[in-house]
Amino acid sequence: MSRVYNFSAGPAVLPESVLKEAAEEMLDYRGCGMSVMEMSHRSAAFQQIIDEAEADLRELMGIPENYKVLFIQGGATMQFAAIPLNLKRNGVFDYIVSGSWSKKALEEAGRFGEARCLASSKDGNFSYVPNVDELSFSPEADYVYICQNETIYGTRYPKLPETGNVPLVADVSSCFLSEPIDVEKYGVIYGGVQKNVGPAGMAIVIVREDLIPTEDLPDVPLMLQWRTYTENGNMYNTPPCYTIYICGKVFKWIKAQGGLEGMKRINEEKAALLYDYLDSSNLFKATVKGADRSIMNVPFVTGSDELDAEFVKAAKAAGIENIKGHRSVGGMRASIYNAMPLAGVQALVDFMREFEQQHS
Ligand SMILES: *Cc1c(COP(=O)(O)O)cnc(C)c1O
Repeated sequence: MSRVYNFSAGPAVLPESVLKEAAEEMLDYRGCGMSVMEMSHRSAAFQQIIDEAEADLRELMGIPENYKVLFIQGGATMQFAAIPLNLKRNGVFDYIVSGSWSKKALEEAGRFGEARCLASSKDGNFSYVPNVDELSFSPEADYVYICQNETIYGTRYPKLPETGNVPLVADVSSCFLSEPIDVEKYGVIYGGVQKNVGPAGMAIVIVREDLIPTEDLPDVPLMLQWRTYTENGNMYNTPPCYTIYICGKVFKWIKAQGGLEGMKRINEEKAALLYDYLDSSNLFKATVKGADRSIMNVPFVTGSDELDAEFVKAAKAAGIENIKGHRSVGGMRASIYNAMPLAGVQALVDFMREFEQQHS
């Protein structure tokens, strides 16, 4: 068996110890005589798995009592619709567009009301985040929406918009649990789990209780209503049991890394290693500058499409996988999520250095 350094943007690298534990428990989960995949979601064993996962997540993020934790199938994209549908009061939704994911979310919300683009960084090919201090927020909006870390362009918000009484909604898919977060600054925090937390196919939604409709929304499918999840302990129907089980193991792994403070320290060290090299290189250059740089997704280019392609190919041969950039940016992108070890980033930088020497 040989494992590569996997820089995929998602689905993405998971902690090796989590995969090993899951492998050990595959045929017989702790004396149950069956896999978690085969287990009734109504069993005591699974109830313990989901309860522990929620408790560990609450502890890690410091989620206050008045916030609910929802495990919802369908990934982040399904929440693009669920957010306007559940938060609709006046039918006015304000979006800050800093890349493809916030743009997609804005377009989806437009199906359900008046979705407005408050600011966009499209003019700079999304290489920066709009300055939130220059924005004014209108109280008639049902919420203000941001994508806190834009996976494709490699940007993140250096500070959050101050939206007053209007709830802030944030897609944190690609920065979930990568550093401490002040939950009370948000109305809704959500993300697909396949970037930083677990296998694909599920979103975790953390929502302030008073924002969840208390009555049935007759025009909205039950599976899109958040109250369906809160009123049924996340088990109105069969939840994605195995995904929840793996996420739970990842939460415990993060706790063992020193929680979100520990994660942040390691992630900043990894990001600094890569950005410092990029800033000193004569061949490679980062596409994002300054405080807006993501510490999770790092796009970079050589300036030549041919050289980029050669680099991607040579990297693959050296055990550095999925380093090709998204087609809308080109070049390369290294996704260095929580589970990417420092040694992986070091191997990438060493390889880039060698490639640079050969091409200068
Ligand atoms: C990957 C990603 C999504 C889409 O997630 P799905 O689970 O595929 O729906 C949404 N937002 C961001 C920021 C992402 O990185």
